[in-house]
Amino acid sequence: MTDKFRAIRVSKAESGQTAELVELSLGDLMEGDVTVAVEYSTVNYKDGLALTGKAPVVRTWPLIPGIDFAGTVEASTHANFKPGDHVVLNGYGVGESHNGGYAQKARVKGDWLVKRPGGISSAHAMAIGTAGYTAMLCVLALEHGGVTPDKGDILVTGAAGGVGSVAIALLAKLGYRVIASTGRASEADYLKGLGAADIIDRNELSGPAKALGKERWAGVVDAVGSNTLANAISMTRYGGTVAACGLAQGMDLPGSVAPFILRGVTLAGIDSVQAPMAKRVEAWSRLAKDLDMKKLDAMTTRIALKDVLDIGPKILAGQVRGRVVVDVNA
Ligand code: NDP
Repeated sequence: MTDKFRAIRVSKAESGQTAELVELSLGDLMEGDVTVAVEYSTVNYKDGLALTGKAPVVRTWPLIPGIDFAGTVEASTHANFKPGDHVVLNGYGVGESHNGGYAQKARVKGDWLVKRPGGISSAHAMAIGTAGYTAMLCVLALEHGGVTPDKGDILVTGAAGGVGSVAIALLAKLGYRVIASTGRASEADYLKGLGAADIIDRNELSGPAKALGKERWAGVVDAVGSNTLANAISMTRYGGTVAACGLAQGMDLPGSVAPFILRGVTLAGIDSVQAPMAKRVEAWSRLAKDLDMKKLDAMTTRIALKDVLDIGPKILAGQVRGRVVVDVNA
Protein backbone atom coordinates (compact mmCIF):
# COMPACT_ATOMS: atom_id res chain seq x y z
CA MET A 1 0.00 0.00 0.00
CA THR A 2 1.57 3.33 -0.99
CA ASP A 3 1.24 6.09 1.54
CA LYS A 4 0.94 9.06 -0.83
CA PHE A 5 -2.08 9.89 -2.98
CA ARG A 6 -3.62 12.77 -4.94
CA ALA A 7 -6.82 14.52 -3.90
CA ILE A 8 -8.91 17.62 -4.47
CA ARG A 9 -9.14 19.58 -1.25
CA VAL A 10 -11.27 22.58 -0.33
CA SER A 11 -10.05 25.03 2.31
CA LYS A 12 -11.38 28.17 3.91
CA ALA A 13 -9.23 31.26 3.44
CA GLU A 14 -9.87 34.84 4.51
CA SER A 15 -10.60 35.70 0.87
CA GLY A 16 -13.17 32.88 0.64
CA GLN A 17 -13.15 29.19 -0.25
CA THR A 18 -10.33 27.65 -2.29
CA ALA A 19 -10.10 24.29 -4.07
CA GLU A 20 -6.82 22.71 -5.20
CA LEU A 21 -5.22 19.46 -6.31
CA VAL A 22 -2.88 18.28 -3.52
CA GLU A 23 -0.73 15.31 -2.57
CA LEU A 24 -1.67 13.80 0.79
CA SER A 25 -0.64 10.85 2.98
CA LEU A 26 -2.84 8.17 4.52
CA GLY A 27 -2.28 9.92 7.86
CA ASP A 28 -4.24 12.92 6.52
CA LEU A 29 -7.44 10.84 6.21
CA MET A 30 -10.09 10.78 8.92
CA GLU A 31 -10.95 7.85 11.16
CA GLY A 32 -12.61 4.77 9.74
CA ASP A 33 -12.30 1.00 9.81
CA VAL A 34 -12.02 0.47 6.03
CA THR A 35 -9.42 1.97 3.67
CA VAL A 36 -10.41 1.96 0.01
CA ALA A 37 -8.36 2.42 -3.16
CA VAL A 38 -10.79 4.69 -4.98
CA GLU A 39 -11.25 4.03 -8.70
CA TYR A 40 -14.00 6.45 -9.68
CA SER A 41 -16.06 9.24 -8.19
CA THR A 42 -18.63 11.45 -9.84
CA VAL A 43 -20.13 14.94 -9.94
CA ASN A 44 -23.52 15.49 -8.32
CA TYR A 45 -25.35 18.79 -7.79
CA LYS A 46 -24.32 18.71 -4.12
CA ASP A 47 -20.67 18.33 -5.15
CA GLY A 48 -21.09 21.53 -7.16
CA LEU A 49 -22.28 23.27 -3.99
CA ALA A 50 -19.32 21.88 -2.01
CA LEU A 51 -16.75 22.81 -4.66
CA THR A 52 -17.99 26.37 -5.09
CA GLY A 53 -19.20 27.12 -1.55
CA LYS A 54 -22.56 28.31 -3.00
CA ALA A 55 -24.34 26.59 -0.08
CA PRO A 56 -22.89 25.47 3.27
CA VAL A 57 -22.49 21.81 2.32
CA VAL A 58 -18.93 21.47 3.69
CA ARG A 59 -19.04 21.21 7.47
CA THR A 60 -15.35 20.74 8.35
CA TRP A 61 -12.17 22.30 6.89
CA PRO A 62 -10.05 21.46 5.01
CA LEU A 63 -12.03 18.67 3.31
CA ILE A 64 -11.84 16.33 0.34
CA PRO A 65 -15.25 16.72 -1.38
CA GLY A 66 -16.99 14.01 -3.41
CA ILE A 67 -20.19 12.51 -1.95
CA ASP A 68 -19.68 9.13 -3.58
CA PHE A 69 -17.03 6.72 -4.81
CA ALA A 70 -16.44 3.19 -6.08
CA GLY A 71 -13.26 1.28 -5.33
CA THR A 72 -11.56 -1.77 -3.86
CA VAL A 73 -10.93 -2.38 -0.16
CA GLU A 74 -7.22 -2.20 0.72
CA ALA A 75 -7.41 -2.66 4.51
CA SER A 76 -10.26 -3.41 6.88
CA THR A 77 -10.96 -4.17 10.52
CA HIS A 78 -14.73 -4.25 9.79
CA ALA A 79 -16.30 -7.72 9.98
CA ASN A 80 -18.12 -7.41 6.63
CA PHE A 81 -15.21 -6.25 4.47
CA LYS A 82 -11.83 -7.67 3.50
CA PRO A 83 -9.07 -6.54 1.12
CA GLY A 84 -10.13 -7.05 -2.49
CA ASP A 85 -13.86 -6.43 -1.90
CA HIS A 86 -15.47 -4.10 -4.45
CA VAL A 87 -17.48 -1.37 -2.76
CA VAL A 88 -19.64 1.66 -3.41
CA LEU A 89 -20.35 4.57 -1.08
CA ASN A 90 -23.13 7.18 -1.31
CA GLY A 91 -23.74 9.93 1.21
CA TYR A 92 -23.56 9.47 4.99
CA GLY A 93 -21.96 12.93 5.13
CA VAL A 94 -18.97 11.84 3.04
CA GLY A 95 -17.81 14.85 1.01
CA GLU A 96 -19.59 17.10 3.56
CA SER A 97 -18.23 16.34 7.06
CA HIS A 98 -15.96 13.35 6.23
CA ASN A 99 -13.27 13.24 3.51
CA GLY A 100 -14.83 12.10 0.25
CA GLY A 101 -14.34 10.56 -3.15
CA TYR A 102 -12.18 13.13 -5.01
CA ALA A 103 -9.05 11.25 -3.98
CA GLN A 104 -7.15 8.08 -4.80
CA LYS A 105 -7.73 6.82 -1.23
CA ALA A 106 -10.60 7.01 1.22
CA ARG A 107 -10.96 5.84 4.81
CA VAL A 108 -14.56 5.45 5.98
CA LYS A 109 -16.81 3.46 8.31
CA GLY A 110 -17.53 0.02 6.91
CA ASP A 111 -21.15 0.54 8.00
CA TRP A 112 -21.44 3.12 5.19
CA LEU A 113 -20.29 0.80 2.39
CA VAL A 114 -22.37 -1.28 -0.01
CA LYS A 115 -20.83 -4.25 -1.84
CA ARG A 116 -20.92 -3.39 -5.54
CA PRO A 117 -23.31 -5.80 -7.33
CA GLY A 118 -21.53 -8.17 -9.74
CA GLY A 119 -23.39 -6.86 -12.79
CA ILE A 120 -22.10 -3.30 -12.36
CA SER A 121 -18.47 -2.30 -13.09
CA SER A 122 -16.72 0.26 -10.93
CA ALA A 123 -16.97 2.90 -13.70
CA HIS A 124 -20.67 2.13 -14.23
CA ALA A 125 -21.30 2.35 -10.47
CA MET A 126 -20.11 5.94 -10.58
CA ALA A 127 -21.84 6.69 -13.87
CA ILE A 128 -24.92 5.85 -11.79
CA GLY A 129 -23.52 7.63 -8.71
CA THR A 130 -25.66 9.24 -6.05
CA ALA A 131 -27.86 10.86 -8.72
CA GLY A 132 -28.70 7.48 -10.29
CA TYR A 133 -29.12 5.71 -6.96
CA THR A 134 -31.50 8.51 -5.94
CA ALA A 135 -33.41 8.06 -9.21
CA MET A 136 -33.81 4.38 -8.28
CA LEU A 137 -35.05 5.34 -4.79
CA CYS A 138 -37.67 7.50 -6.56
CA VAL A 139 -38.74 4.61 -8.79
CA LEU A 140 -39.02 2.35 -5.71
CA ALA A 141 -41.26 5.00 -4.10
CA LEU A 142 -43.54 5.04 -7.16
CA GLU A 143 -43.74 1.24 -7.07
CA HIS A 144 -44.45 1.35 -3.32
CA GLY A 145 -47.28 3.79 -4.08
CA GLY A 146 -48.80 1.26 -6.48
CA VAL A 147 -47.97 3.27 -9.62
CA THR A 148 -47.71 0.59 -12.28
CA PRO A 149 -47.22 1.38 -16.01
CA ASP A 150 -50.93 0.86 -16.74
CA LYS A 151 -51.90 3.64 -14.28
CA GLY A 152 -50.67 6.42 -16.59
CA ASP A 153 -47.69 8.55 -17.60
CA ILE A 154 -44.77 9.50 -15.35
CA LEU A 155 -43.42 13.06 -15.31
CA VAL A 156 -39.65 13.45 -14.83
CA THR A 157 -38.46 17.02 -14.06
CA GLY A 158 -34.89 18.24 -14.45
CA ALA A 159 -34.88 15.64 -17.19
CA ALA A 160 -31.49 16.32 -18.79
CA GLY A 161 -29.71 16.35 -15.41
CA GLY A 162 -28.25 13.37 -13.59
CA VAL A 163 -31.26 12.20 -11.54
CA GLY A 164 -33.59 12.94 -14.46
CA SER A 165 -31.56 11.08 -17.09
CA VAL A 166 -31.22 7.90 -15.02
CA ALA A 167 -34.89 8.07 -13.98
CA ILE A 168 -35.99 8.23 -17.65
CA ALA A 169 -33.81 5.25 -18.61
CA LEU A 170 -35.06 3.17 -15.65
CA LEU A 171 -38.74 4.01 -16.11
CA ALA A 172 -38.66 3.39 -19.87
CA LYS A 173 -37.08 -0.04 -19.37
CA LEU A 174 -39.71 -0.88 -16.75
CA GLY A 175 -42.45 -0.13 -19.29
CA TYR A 176 -43.63 3.30 -18.13
CA ARG A 177 -44.49 6.09 -20.58
CA VAL A 178 -42.29 9.03 -19.60
CA ILE A 179 -42.91 12.77 -20.04
CA ALA A 180 -39.62 14.63 -19.70
CA SER A 181 -39.65 18.26 -18.53
CA THR A 182 -36.55 20.20 -19.57
CA GLY A 183 -35.32 23.72 -20.13
CA ARG A 184 -33.02 22.46 -22.85
CA ALA A 185 -35.10 21.92 -26.00
CA SER A 186 -31.83 21.13 -27.80
CA GLU A 187 -31.60 17.91 -25.74
CA ALA A 188 -34.85 16.46 -27.13
CA ASP A 189 -33.07 13.74 -29.14
CA TYR A 190 -30.91 12.85 -26.16
CA LEU A 191 -33.99 12.50 -23.92
CA LYS A 192 -35.87 10.46 -26.53
CA GLY A 193 -32.81 8.23 -26.86
CA LEU A 194 -33.03 7.52 -23.14
CA GLY A 195 -36.68 6.52 -23.53
CA ALA A 196 -38.78 9.69 -23.07
CA ALA A 197 -42.04 9.51 -25.06
CA ASP A 198 -42.92 13.20 -24.70
CA ILE A 199 -40.96 16.32 -23.94
CA ILE A 200 -42.37 19.46 -22.34
CA ASP A 201 -40.76 22.87 -21.73
CA ARG A 202 -40.02 23.35 -18.06
CA ASN A 203 -41.56 26.85 -18.26
CA GLU A 204 -44.94 25.08 -18.38
CA LEU A 205 -44.35 24.06 -14.76
CA SER A 206 -42.18 26.82 -13.32
CA GLY A 207 -44.84 29.50 -12.63
CA PRO A 208 -47.30 29.66 -9.70
CA ALA A 209 -49.41 26.48 -9.37
CA LYS A 210 -53.22 26.19 -9.31
CA ALA A 211 -54.69 24.25 -6.39
CA LEU A 212 -55.81 21.54 -8.81
CA GLY A 213 -54.86 21.22 -12.46
CA LYS A 214 -55.91 18.83 -15.22
CA GLU A 215 -54.86 15.28 -14.30
CA ARG A 216 -51.88 14.55 -16.55
CA TRP A 217 -49.69 11.88 -14.91
CA ALA A 218 -49.93 9.02 -12.45
CA GLY A 219 -46.51 9.57 -10.95
CA VAL A 220 -43.68 12.08 -10.78
CA VAL A 221 -39.91 11.98 -10.23
CA ASP A 222 -39.10 15.57 -9.25
CA ALA A 223 -35.53 16.87 -9.02
CA VAL A 224 -36.55 20.53 -9.10
CA GLY A 225 -38.81 21.48 -6.13
CA SER A 226 -40.50 24.91 -5.75
CA ASN A 227 -43.27 25.88 -8.24
CA THR A 228 -42.34 22.95 -10.47
CA LEU A 229 -43.10 20.45 -7.71
CA ALA A 230 -46.30 22.30 -6.76
CA ASN A 231 -47.48 22.18 -10.39
CA ALA A 232 -46.46 18.53 -10.74
CA ILE A 233 -48.50 17.61 -7.65
CA SER A 234 -51.51 19.63 -8.82
CA MET A 235 -51.63 17.70 -12.12
CA THR A 236 -51.17 14.23 -10.62
CA ARG A 237 -54.01 11.79 -11.21
CA TYR A 238 -56.22 10.41 -8.47
CA GLY A 239 -54.24 8.05 -6.19
CA GLY A 240 -50.90 8.91 -7.79
CA THR A 241 -47.50 9.29 -6.14
CA VAL A 242 -44.96 12.11 -6.43
CA ALA A 243 -41.36 11.31 -5.45
CA ALA A 244 -39.61 14.56 -4.44
CA CYS A 245 -35.83 14.45 -4.27
CA GLY A 246 -34.43 17.78 -5.44
CA LEU A 247 -34.36 21.55 -5.26
CA ALA A 248 -32.78 22.75 -8.53
CA GLN A 249 -35.47 25.47 -8.82
CA GLY A 250 -35.80 26.09 -5.08
CA MET A 251 -36.43 24.66 -1.62
CA ASP A 252 -39.92 26.12 -1.25
CA LEU A 253 -43.15 24.29 -2.01
CA PRO A 254 -45.83 26.92 -2.77
CA GLY A 255 -48.82 24.63 -3.31
CA SER A 256 -52.21 23.52 -1.99
CA VAL A 257 -53.36 20.54 0.05
CA ALA A 258 -56.14 20.00 -2.50
CA PRO A 259 -54.35 17.23 -4.45
CA PHE A 260 -53.77 15.31 -1.18
CA ILE A 261 -57.27 15.64 0.30
CA LEU A 262 -59.32 15.54 -2.91
CA ARG A 263 -57.27 13.19 -5.10
CA GLY A 264 -55.48 11.06 -2.51
CA VAL A 265 -52.13 11.98 -4.02
CA THR A 266 -49.08 10.83 -2.03
CA LEU A 267 -45.97 12.98 -1.68
CA ALA A 268 -43.01 10.67 -1.09
CA GLY A 269 -39.85 12.30 0.27
CA ILE A 270 -36.61 10.81 -1.02
CA ASP A 271 -33.37 11.05 0.95
CA SER A 272 -30.29 9.24 -0.29
CA VAL A 273 -27.85 10.43 2.39
CA GLN A 274 -29.18 8.60 5.46
CA ALA A 275 -31.28 5.97 3.65
CA PRO A 276 -31.22 2.70 5.62
CA MET A 277 -28.77 0.02 4.43
CA ALA A 278 -31.53 -2.41 3.34
CA LYS A 279 -32.96 0.25 1.02
CA ARG A 280 -29.50 0.97 -0.44
CA VAL A 281 -28.84 -2.69 -1.13
CA GLU A 282 -32.27 -3.03 -2.75
CA ALA A 283 -31.67 0.07 -4.91
CA TRP A 284 -28.24 -1.10 -6.08
CA SER A 285 -29.46 -4.61 -6.90
CA ARG A 286 -32.40 -3.16 -8.85
CA LEU A 287 -30.02 -0.83 -10.75
CA ALA A 288 -28.00 -3.89 -11.79
CA LYS A 289 -31.19 -5.48 -13.13
CA ASP A 290 -33.24 -2.57 -14.47
CA LEU A 291 -30.77 -0.05 -15.91
CA ASP A 292 -29.75 -0.39 -19.55
CA MET A 293 -25.95 0.04 -19.40
CA LYS A 294 -25.86 1.23 -23.05
CA LYS A 295 -28.18 4.09 -22.13
CA LEU A 296 -26.02 4.77 -19.08
CA ASP A 297 -22.97 5.05 -21.35
CA ALA A 298 -24.91 7.42 -23.63
CA MET A 299 -25.55 9.83 -20.74
CA THR A 300 -22.01 9.73 -19.27
CA THR A 301 -18.88 11.76 -19.85
CA ARG A 302 -15.58 11.06 -18.13
CA ILE A 303 -13.12 13.56 -16.65
CA ALA A 304 -9.78 13.36 -14.78
CA LEU A 305 -9.35 14.31 -11.12
CA LYS A 306 -7.90 17.77 -11.87
CA ASP A 307 -10.92 18.64 -14.08
CA VAL A 308 -13.12 18.55 -10.97
CA LEU A 309 -11.73 22.01 -10.19
CA ASP A 310 -13.65 23.47 -13.17
CA ILE A 311 -16.95 21.63 -13.04
CA GLY A 312 -18.64 22.95 -9.88
CA PRO A 313 -20.07 26.15 -11.41
CA LYS A 314 -21.18 24.26 -14.54
CA ILE A 315 -23.40 21.75 -12.72
CA LEU A 316 -24.94 24.55 -10.63
CA ALA A 317 -25.70 26.48 -13.83
CA GLY A 318 -27.53 23.43 -15.25
CA GLN A 319 -24.91 23.08 -18.01
CA VAL A 320 -23.96 19.48 -17.30
CA ARG A 321 -25.87 16.87 -19.28
CA GLY A 322 -26.51 13.48 -17.70
CA ARG A 323 -23.70 12.08 -15.58
CA VAL A 324 -20.02 12.91 -15.18
CA VAL A 325 -17.61 10.20 -13.97
CA VAL A 326 -14.32 11.23 -12.35
CA ASP A 327 -11.39 8.89 -12.99
CA VAL A 328 -9.38 9.71 -9.85
CA ASN A 329 -6.31 7.88 -11.19
CA ALA A 330 -6.18 9.89 -14.44
P1 NDP B 1 -28.18 18.16 -12.20
O1 NDP B 1 -27.66 19.55 -12.14
O2 NDP B 1 -27.49 17.14 -13.01
O3 NDP B 1 -29.72 18.20 -12.69
C1 NDP B 1 -30.61 19.20 -12.28
C2 NDP B 1 -31.47 19.58 -13.47
O4 NDP B 1 -32.54 20.41 -13.00
C3 NDP B 1 -30.77 20.43 -14.53
O5 NDP B 1 -30.02 19.63 -15.42
C4 NDP B 1 -31.95 21.10 -15.20
O6 NDP B 1 -32.55 20.16 -16.07
C5 NDP B 1 -32.91 21.31 -14.04
N1 NDP B 1 -32.83 22.68 -13.50
C6 NDP B 1 -31.72 23.36 -13.14
N2 NDP B 1 -32.04 24.59 -12.69
C7 NDP B 1 -33.38 24.69 -12.79
C8 NDP B 1 -34.33 25.71 -12.50
N3 NDP B 1 -33.95 26.90 -12.01
N4 NDP B 1 -35.63 25.47 -12.73
C9 NDP B 1 -36.04 24.29 -13.22
N5 NDP B 1 -35.19 23.27 -13.51
C10 NDP B 1 -33.89 23.47 -13.30
O7 NDP B 1 -28.31 17.68 -10.68
P2 NDP B 1 -28.57 16.19 -10.12
O8 NDP B 1 -29.37 15.43 -11.09
O9 NDP B 1 -27.31 15.67 -9.57
O10 NDP B 1 -29.51 16.54 -8.87
C11 NDP B 1 -30.83 17.01 -9.10
C12 NDP B 1 -31.44 17.50 -7.80
O11 NDP B 1 -31.62 16.40 -6.93
C13 NDP B 1 -30.57 18.51 -7.05
O12 NDP B 1 -31.39 19.50 -6.48
C14 NDP B 1 -29.91 17.68 -5.98
O13 NDP B 1 -29.56 18.44 -4.87
C15 NDP B 1 -31.01 16.67 -5.69
N6 NDP B 1 -30.52 15.41 -5.14
C16 NDP B 1 -31.09 14.99 -3.98
C17 NDP B 1 -30.72 13.80 -3.42
C18 NDP B 1 -31.44 13.33 -2.21
O14 NDP B 1 -30.90 12.50 -1.48
N7 NDP B 1 -32.64 13.81 -1.97
C19 NDP B 1 -29.64 13.00 -4.00
C20 NDP B 1 -29.15 13.47 -5.29
C21 NDP B 1 -29.59 14.67 -5.80
P3 NDP B 1 -33.05 20.60 -17.55
O15 NDP B 1 -31.87 21.28 -18.20
O16 NDP B 1 -33.45 19.32 -18.20
O17 NDP B 1 -34.20 21.55 -17.36
